[in-house]
Amino acid sequence: MHNALLPLITALKKKKALSGVSALLSWDQETYMPEGSIEQRAEQLALIDSISHAHHTSHDFKSAMAEVVDLKTGLPRIDGLTESEKTMVKAVWRDWQKTNALPTAFVEELSKATALGQHQWGIAREQNKFLDFAPHLQKMVELQRKKAVFYNMEGHAYDALIDDYEPGMKMADINPLFDALRDAIIDIRKRIETSKATFVDISESHYDITKQWDFGVDILNEMGFDFKRGRQDKSVHPFTTEFNRNDVRITTRFNPNDLLESFSSTIHEGGHALYEQGLDAYWDGTPLAEAMSLGIHESQSLLWENYVCYSWPFWDGHFNKLKQYFRYEFTGVSAEQFYRTINQVQPSCIRVEADEVTYSLHIMLRYEIEKALISGDLDVAELPTLWNQRMADYVGITPPNDTQGVLQDVHWSYGLFGYFPTYALGNLYGRMLFEQAESEIPDLNGSIRRGEMLALKTWLNDKVHKVGRGTTPSELITHITGKELSVTPFVNYLKEKYGAIYKVKL
Ligand SMILES: [Zn+2]
Repeated sequence: MHNALLPLITALKKKKALSGVSALLSWDQETYMPEGSIEQRAEQLALIDSISHAHHTSHDFKSAMAEVVDLKTGLPRIDGLTESEKTMVKAVWRDWQKTNALPTAFVEELSKATALGQHQWGIAREQNKFLDFAPHLQKMVELQRKKAVFYNMEGHAYDALIDDYEPGMKMADINPLFDALRDAIIDIRKRIETSKATFVDISESHYDITKQWDFGVDILNEMGFDFKRGRQDKSVHPFTTEFNRNDVRITTRFNPNDLLESFSSTIHEGGHALYEQGLDAYWDGTPLAEAMSLGIHESQSLLWENYVCYSWPFWDGHFNKLKQYFRYEFTGVSAEQFYRTINQVQPSCIRVEADEVTYSLHIMLRYEIEKALISGDLDVAELPTLWNQRMADYVGITPPNDTQGVLQDVHWSYGLFGYFPTYALGNLYGRMLFEQAESEIPDLNGSIRRGEMLALKTWLNDKVHKVGRGTTPSELITHITGKELSVTPFVNYLKEKYGAIYKVKL
């Protein structure tokens, strides 16, 4: 590392340590903290977050940066930096600029509106009263528009919001992808609906929770999750968090009647965790040892969950291992029957319960609404009607009420606009990455069948994880695969997989 960068690295490591403390407090709140301590925990978190914000906006941080970078342009002020060091410095400057772009009064207003909006959303959702949440949503939309103005970026306000989660990605890139994806998936869904395929029912059994836990841990070990640098616990909503790359925590949840609830979340969060554990130690504390974007993060979880652990090669090799835990529960069920059953397409009103085929349609709906809200083309009052119409057109079902419709997700009450598209982008990135891995790793599907998945983990470490935030998501995909980001690999994969499961031409 260039000597002139050292004061900046020290300042960055302090920032990272503070965010690790904050993440630890949040993790504890979701897993072990006694309920009674919620108010004190909120105070502790607010204190750490304000110290962290003060550090990032401090005179010391600014002068450490001014030593090496022109504060107006983000260009290096010193000679002799490597290309990676220049990229790192530019990313640090960009983060700093964004933090400083928002006036303190605005940050306070946003944080109050978020706390209140989230509270009101919870009540409105429970009571199925969209109108009670509408004024808070309206306020949040206005604040998001203001935030985009403060960012002062070129292009559409919504582009500036997307940039917080998927750097460099714009509506102009996403629109053609999502238009093609939506039409292709609606077509696949309609064709599947004509199928007369039947499935075995595995929902009647009771699946011992200790055995579910043990089977999940077996698979995490096969994937190469490092239990010396991470752990798994239980929580109501599964998540991944990291305090640093040597302490990555995942959570899962159990349903005694649904084996797949814990299995899916363990693998999904395990995929996120491998990303965090795989970051490059050399760049610790800097943006080059941070995940690139939410979409790339999601590509890692979806790759392991859908393309590895819900694939035929996986179950061809693992159904007998599962039966060692649940011998009686699966009497008379074959590996193929099990594989087909767990991959059934069952359209749902609820995004988080959606199957692999229809999931992206839920995202298209939210993306279209966000764009229209931020542009001012859609009034908040029109939301429930539009939501229900599009659900009927896209997913083929109409929500019975707003609780299961427009009020189901927490994101908008939190002010997370521009976040949703990253879920669907994750599928596109993930599929392209998996197919590239298939072409570079000899007999990848044979290894998945045998549970020897370290070659895939190492490939992802080298190609994706170690890059950190060294480039943009679409450049990363093109660099690794030699192809432009496209919906074709994902759509073809759905057609092939589900055509075989449903025995229809897709
Ligand atoms: Zn995820």
